[in-house]
Amino acid sequence: MRVLVTGGSGYIGSHAVVALMEAGHQVVVLDNLENSAGTVVSRIERITGQAPDFIEGDLRDADALEKVFANASFDAVMHFAGLKAVGESVSRPLAYYETNVGGTVRLCQAMERAGVRRLIFSSSATVYGDPARVPIDEDAATGGVTNPYGRSKHMVEQILFDLGRADPRWSIGILRYFNPVGAHESALIGESPRGIPNNLVPYIAQVANGEREQLNVFGDDYPTWDGTGVRDYIHVVDLVAGHLRALEFLEAQPGSHVWNLGRGEGYSVLEMVRAFEEASGRPVPYRVTDRRPGDIAECWADPSKAERELGWRAERDLATMMRDTWRWQHNQRIG
Ligand code: NAD
Ligand code: UDP
Repeated sequence: MRVLVTGGSGYIGSHAVVALMEAGHQVVVLDNLENSAGTVVSRIERITGQAPDFIEGDLRDADALEKVFANASFDAVMHFAGLKAVGESVSRPLAYYETNVGGTVRLCQAMERAGVRRLIFSSSATVYGDPARVPIDEDAATGGVTNPYGRSKHMVEQILFDLGRADPRWSIGILRYFNPVGAHESALIGESPRGIPNNLVPYIAQVANGEREQLNVFGDDYPTWDGTGVRDYIHVVDLVAGHLRALEFLEAQPGSHVWNLGRGEGYSVLEMVRAFEEASGRPVPYRVTDRRPGDIAECWADPSKAERELGWRAERDLATMMRDTWRWQHNQRIG
């Protein structure tokens, strides 16, 4: 297939580009490089032996999108581009709605005009808000979200469901990610947060690498086994494998579909610290601080729908996730 990958030089998108190319698909990347580096394309080339076509362009720019679709015919779009920092979304809500919601509407309009109606969308477990129970399956209530980032993901889901209902020619796969971590085993691509990392694993990696003094553990008084927050961490390479399966599924069975992409297993913050210490052989000093506003105690997936329908399950265990994160972190540091 010929696939347009928006956000394809970002963390998850770049791994998807590698997986698509390795599976023999032709890829065009559209990214405005707002949160990624142009060098990612040459690193993808080092991994796959071939560079994907790259277009520097903005999702919010209708004319640019028009040109992208005029210059090539696509069978599908994987849509990763967006803004993703929860805290920043509270202080810059308009930017988040403009890019995540407005940008997706523009993309779908351009797709519609070009007659491309197969879309994979990066959603998030955040749409479940504070879940009534874990593990969370796809029928759990959505929408009790406490920040603009999460609301933007929930809004886009509603828009895409409406689009699918309005025109049955659309095939839409909504993928609700749990907590993507890790990096490609080549250590050539991975997550490079700008400034202070918001997420746990990149923060731990920087502490282990001596770039930060200590981890702040946001609360140890949650109703979990050791009092710290529990999440479902999934290796990014497993995550993108789920996208390829979803793409194949949509080809065979059009319509709108939702799948959780998680491992179905939760780990606490302190378990993550210990696992990283083991993988890196470095200490990860930490101190317990107040809870982070808006955080929930625990969140992990029931991934059985994806297993049943897509024949997909995450294969890489916690030790592999931590090993690959460490390799990537260490590789970046030594250049
Ligand atoms: P990322 O920031 O690494 O990648 C997003 C890419 O989109 C970046 O390369 C950025 O430059 C690009 N981009 C941003 N605004 C753009 C615009 N207006 N036009 C064109 N390109 C633009 O993020 P990621 O972690 O790879 O996340 C990819 C998607 O997955 C996002 O939609 C995110 O919300 C979603 N998601 C991520 C996580 C996570 O923990 N990383 C969890 C759930 C969902
Ligand atoms: N966390 C932490 N210190 C940090 C970052 C995160 O203790 O510097 C905790 C956070 O409270 C949550 C878990 O680690 O329990 C995962 O947080 P992350 O931001 O990575 O994912 P999310 O909360 O969005 O699922």
